[in-house]
Amino acid sequence: MKIFVFAELNTAGPSTISLEMLTKARNLGGEVAAFAVGAGSDAAFATLGAHGATTVHHLDPGDALPAAAAAAALAGLVGDGDLVFFGLTQTDRDVAGRLAARTGAAVLSNAVDVKVEGGSVGVVNEILGGSTLVETEFTGSGPRLVVVRPKSFTAEAGAAAQPQVHTVPVPDTGRSGAARITARHAEESQGPSLADAAVIVSGGRGLGSAEKFGLVGELAGILGAAVGATRAVVDSGWVPYSVQVGQTGKTVKPSVYIACGISGAMQHLVGMKDSTTIIAINKDEEAPIFAVADLGVIGDVHQVLPKLIQALKAR
Ligand SMILES: Cc1cc2nc3c(=O)[nH]c(=O)nc-3n(C[C@H](O)[C@H](O)[C@H](O)COP(=O)(O)OP(=O)(O)OC[C@H]3O[C@@H](n4cnc5c(N)ncnc54)[C@H](O)[C@@H]3O)c2cc1C
Repeated sequence: MKIFVFAELNTAGPSTISLEMLTKARNLGGEVAAFAVGAGSDAAFATLGAHGATTVHHLDPGDALPAAAAAAALAGLVGDGDLVFFGLTQTDRDVAGRLAARTGAAVLSNAVDVKVEGGSVGVVNEILGGSTLVETEFTGSGPRLVVVRPKSFTAEAGAAAQPQVHTVPVPDTGRSGAARITARHAEESQGPSLADAAVIVSGGRGLGSAEKFGLVGELAGILGAAVGATRAVVDSGWVPYSVQVGQTGKTVKPSVYIACGISGAMQHLVGMKDSTTIIAINKDEEAPIFAVADLGVIGDVHQVLPKLIQALKAR
């Protein structure tokens, strides 16, 4: 069985999720190929190789929206029984759906683990807010597509290895490939990104207002941490959607997650419960966040946070 890993290439190199999936594919054994889409570079290909790809199929669709061309090209590469990994991102999902339609392949989505035993492939999903794991097995023929949740696996480079790079010609997909990217807007951000931060300070409705949410940013700045938020806060317009943590936001796995004025709804927990150490500050001792917290502070964030900030500044 061959494993293909979809890898979106952007200006910083291969997407983080693609490196996580390549590491998993490498550990599963067998032949691992990356299907890399975007502007390529020797450095990007070397990164894919170091994470497990022995072969890189490279498609550069230029300014076209990549999914139609990527799915058409991939359909010509994947064979019966091959495994194809995609990340739970916009582009990856777009390609996975189109590839499934083209090949009639089954797709298992939201995977947190993949198990290969003999010829059978089991895909593990979390349901009921992560409280229950379900394992599903592919049956029948055709390629097997798996859409993986970010942070399910840890990206680890192995021995540096230069993969074989094959340039894939851009297939003609007619009108379905006609959409063009005319402009790109990078969201301005300060400090580490949520995906890479070792420490995240996250705020919920308990902060009370957009102005008071500034305490979260202030603490994050002192700790060199990234800012996160609940959907309630994002829906209130206090912070942009890009910092939302949870089921419909980002999945994070920092060393330390500090939850301030967050109740701990299961849709939030599913995005942060795998953090190494969780510290919760909440005035309600019955708040569900304390069930996953390693350290709990029962108190008012408007009193605890300023004191914490003051103490850290004094160090
Ligand atoms: C389909 C679906 C998807 C969703 N996806 C997400 C998601 O991705 N991410 C997400 O976060 N949510 C998501 N939600 C929403 C989720 O169900 C909760 O509504 C949300 O997480 C609650 O946010 P919160 O903890 O900020 O607010 P609340 O639940 O209102 O909790 C506020 C907390 O602050 C505490 N508090 C109040 N004042 C203070 C104070 N002064 N000091 C200390 N503590 C105080 C309260 O005791 C309370 O525990 C989703 C919901 C649905 C239905």
